[in-house]
Amino acid sequence: NIEANPLIIPDSYEGYSLSYFNLPLHYRNDLKSVLIPYGFVQDRIEALASRIFDDLHIGMPEQLICMCVLKGGYRFFSDLVSKIQNENRLRSDRSLPMSLEFIRTRSYINDQSSGSLEIIGLGDLNKIKNKNVLIIEDIIDSGITMVTLKEELEKFHPKTIRVASLITKRRKDKKCVFKPDYCGFEVPDHFVVGYALDYNEYFRDLEHICILKESGVTKYKV
Ligand code: 5GP
Repeated sequence: NIEANPLIIPDSYEGYSLSYFNLPLHYRNDLKSVLIPYGFVQDRIEALASRIFDDLHIGMPEQLICMCVLKGGYRFFSDLVSKIQNENRLRSDRSLPMSLEFIRTRSYINDQSSGSLEIIGLGDLNKIKNKNVLIIEDIIDSGITMVTLKEELEKFHPKTIRVASLITKRRKDKKCVFKPDYCGFEVPDHFVVGYALDYNEYFRDLEHICILKESGVTKYKV
């Protein structure tokens, strides 16, 4: 009975002090705190992988198309897929075959949504016709990216589309318009980086999911 809904990180929690972690020297002064340590991310993904395996192996002798939303989703995608592979290796009674696809979306400029979504690499998506698709995304904020992406993919007539997102954000003012089928964590309304999530292409090379300092926001602004 593993939870497909997010583990909720409350507003009162501001993360761990940087002093407890080994962080790259080049980012140490730009971060406020470690919101979700790498090991915790891994444990939660392992639980999600079991849940996805249990839910989706049924009646699914055909491949599940796991669709990575680049660039931010690549670490979550890679770890989730490899943990589903572990399930496949360890379970002799059932299996979930997968194929892997990659697309790229971009909507953020600095730490704000630009309001328009760029989708790259939607060329030969006819292969998703009549197939089960699992979109694997890093973070859902307003939800507009996922609503738009799902609409685009529906045009190719897949059998089903499900969404796994590592994080959803609990927004202060506005409501999120999309709820994923599987979610790792719900976090307070901070701009987070690390574990492949970037700020203007910085911080992807950081293991832990961290909150940026105001000075970091200014330093890497374009
Ligand atoms: P939405 O369309 O849901 O508002 O935004 C989703 C996209 O915005 C994500 O795929 C991600 O690229 C970016 N995004 C939203 N919030 C954050 C955040 O806190 N940190 C980072 N690095 N990207 C974010």
